Order: sequence, then C-alpha cells, then structure tokens
Amino acid sequence: MQVWKFGGTSVGKPERMHSIRNLITSDDHQKIVVLSALSGTTNALLSIADSLKSDQPDEAGEKIEHLKAHYDSFVRELYKTSDGLTKGQKIVENEFSFIRSLTRIRPFTLKQEKELVAEGELLSTQMFQAYLEEADEDAILLPALEFMRVDADGEPELDYTERKLRELLRAHGARKIIVTQGFICRNPRGEVDNLKRGGSDYTASLIGGAIRADEIQIWTDIDGMHNNDPRIVKKTFPIRALTFEEAAELAYFGAKILHPSTITPAKMFGVPVRLKNTMDPQAEGTLIASKTSDQVFKAVAAKDGITALYIHSLRMLNAYGFLRRIFEVFEKYKTPVDLIATSEVSVSVTIDKTDNLPELMAELRTFCDLEEPDYDQTIVCIVGNFSADHAGIALQVLKALEGIPIRMISYGGTEHNISLLMHGRYKAEALNALNEGLFNLVEA
Ligand code: ADP
Ligand code: ASP
Ligand code: MG
Repeated sequence: MQVWKFGGTSVGKPERMHSIRNLITSDDHQKIVVLSALSGTTNALLSIADSLKSDQPDEAGEKIEHLKAHYDSFVRELYKTSDGLTKGQKIVENEFSFIRSLTRIRPFTLKQEKELVAEGELLSTQMFQAYLEEADEDAILLPALEFMRVDADGEPELDYTERKLRELLRAHGARKIIVTQGFICRNPRGEVDNLKRGGSDYTASLIGGAIRADEIQIWTDIDGMHNNDPRIVKKTFPIRALTFEEAAELAYFGAKILHPSTITPAKMFGVPVRLKNTMDPQAEGTLIASKTSDQVFKAVAAKDGITALYIHSLRMLNAYGFLRRIFEVFEKYKTPVDLIATSEVSVSVTIDKTDNLPELMAELRTFCDLEEPDYDQTIVCIVGNFSADHAGIALQVLKALEGIPIRMISYGGTEHNISLLMHGRYKAEALNALNEGLFNLVEA
C-alpha cells in the first residue's frame, strides 16, 4: 500500500481535483490519499478566528460568507452530474452551518479555533470523496479524527494510530482508494487539534510509518526538493536523491516543502518518501531514502524567528556537570535547543520556542550570567557530504558568506550539516551568496 498526500495548491481548483483523480487511479497500487485544505482556506479560517477572538462577530460573518461563496462556485465546477452537485452543495451547507454556529460561542477559545481550522480538511476530503463516488471509483473516506491523536505535548501517538488504523483497514481496507484528512487529529481531552501549519505532510508520513507503506508520496506544486529556497533565490534546481538525514535537516531548517517532522516516522520504518509535482507529474521529483549521491554540497535552507541566548559563568572553568545544569533548565521549560557553541566559560544556544523565555532566563540567572538575547535571527543550514577528511568545505562556505556578519557556526555535529546563525536581515543575501559560491549559480 502507498500513501499519497496532496497539498493545498494540488486540490485548490476543481480541475486540479479532476487531475488528481486521474493520478491516483492510473496504476493498481492501493492508496491512502491524504488531502490538505484548498489553498488559502486555512489562512482564511485563522483570520475568521482572529475576528472572533477580538470579539468582532460581524467581521467574522463577512469573512465566512466570502469563503462560502468560493466553495459554492468550486462545487459547481467540480461535479459533472446534478446528483454529484447536490451532494457537494450539502457538504458545503453542513460545514458552513457548523462554522457559523461557532461565531455564537462566547468566549471564543483555542478549542473553538481548532475546530474551526479543521474545517478546511473536513471540506476538501468530503468534497473529493463525493467526486470520486460520482465517478464510480472504488473509494472510501476514513476520518482522521478516528485514528490520529497527539499527547499532552502535542506529539503524535504513533502506536495509537497503528492500532486504530489496523482496525479500520480490517473493516474497509479492500477499497482501492482510502481518502483521509491531513493535519487534523484529537488531543488527550478528545478535542479536535492539529499537527501545526503544513501538518498534512506529517500525517502522511505517520500513516506511512504506521502501516509500513511501500512508499509515501508528497504531491505539491514544485518538482521536488530544490538546492535552495525558490521563494528567495531565482535559479534553483531539483535534487534527485536525498538520505532521510539530509531531508530531515532541510525540512527542520526551513525547506517549506516538508513539515519539519515529516521524515521522522518514514525513517523509523525505512519507508521511502518521494516528492512529486502535481502540475508536472512526469517530472522525476526527489526520492528520500537510505542512499544518496556523493555530491559535496546538496542544498541550503533557512529557518527564521530564531532567538540566541548567551550564557556565561566563571564556575564553568574546569567544572563538570555545568552543561547538564543548563540543559536541565531547557528541558524543564520544554524548549528545544537547535545550535550550540561553547567556550570554556560560556555557552551560546539558539531556540525557536520562546513562550517560556522569561521564566527560563530567570532560572538560568540563578546560577549564570546572561546577556540580552538576540531576536529575529536566522539559521542558514547547508546540507551535503562533509566527510571529516575532506579539506576546504568550511572555507568554501565562509568564503561565499564573506560579506555577512555571522554570530554562530555549528560544524561537525554530523557529517552532513553546517549551520550558521545570522541576523534575519541577511538571509536573502546569504542564500544568494551560497547559491553562487557552492552551486555556481549566478543571478542573470
Ligand atoms: P503544499 O501546499 O503542497 O503543502 P507548500 O507550499 O507547503 O505546498 O510547499 C511547497 C513550497 O515549498 C514550494 O512552492 C516552494 O516555494 C517552497 N519551498 C521552500 N524551500 C523549498 C525547497 N528547498 N525545495 C522546494 N520547495 C521549497
Ligand atoms: N491546511 C494546513 C495548513 O495550511 C495543513 C497543510 O496544508 O499541510 O497549514
Ligand atoms: Mg505544505
């Protein structure tokens, strides 16, 4: 069995839904098809939530009717028969009457916001399933809320998914196409929750891992993982093969094509992940598996919104146990650390989660000196084969970035990553400079 995931742009127009029906039925593989919300919908739902949180029900109401008009015209083009259209209209009416009902709840809390934002995937999957039924395809819709669950820390419970999916597939697994929602799940209180923005990729790989799929395919609007961020750098090219580790680094450090955690379950069970382009299905895309090419520099990505903390203590001189004490504080406040640089008497770390920062800093100050943090930093991450006995790699990176002030460097943590910290204002310049210095690609 394979898992195929289609992102927002891949389902964002009726004709795209028509072409993904052709794609998923063009071979004999049984598939679980994971869909995102139509492009723009999740943002629109979050904006409705903002209006409701700021107690502006009229503004929310206008936004809801505007969004509904989009769905009304979408279903008119999606279905070919009047029966199909009636079904589609009913789905839209039902979901929007639920959305409207949320505007009457006061106060509007995070619980309601999560129910609201889940509507995007609930709409797209029901509309697509009704379209497959209209076309007489052998398809069924399995609700993700019945088998996707996160724990109290928001981490997916893979064992639960595995058990629940096994039961559901025993009952419905004979169908050729099994449609489900990306992104959405339940939390330990049984409420609707989600896997954070871009989470449909993660749903696909969690399912792929849980059922030990033959392959996970992520279908999007670009022909695979590119060597650099195409939103910022003009000349980029697709990479044919990446290892799980390389792809995980790129996703974690900002390559938006994959949710940061996508690779973890795929790697755990050795399920290959293929990135494909819905707009150009013949394009080769990128295969993420155990093998890679021996190219030195493979790709560059950047992650914004980073905070750097500078921690000093003279007590560190010749002391042991000090780093443990520092990292226990990060553990206590559930704050992951990305980059670390140390000297004999200081440690610098970067974090991207700052919700507990004041408490975390106050606790560190009980036994260390802390400088003012640097906010709005960016980590630029270079991925490739940097074997320890290959000379000149760091030099080439730093030479490319010679005009840019660098605050921290991490090299040697693995053989396939060099990460650098800089102020966010230098990101575009750095990505372009690396494109030229590492890949010889010069903007025209
Ligand atoms: P989907 O809606 O299908 O999930 P996303 O917008 O989340 O699609 O991801 C695809 C986008 O990721 C591309 O359109 C591209 O702009 C962006 N992107 C950022 N970095 C990369 C990269 N290194 N390679 C490919 N795409 C990237
Ligand atoms: N619809 C969700 C979002 O926009 C999940 C996804 O598209 O992967 O973040
Ligand atoms: Mg995405």
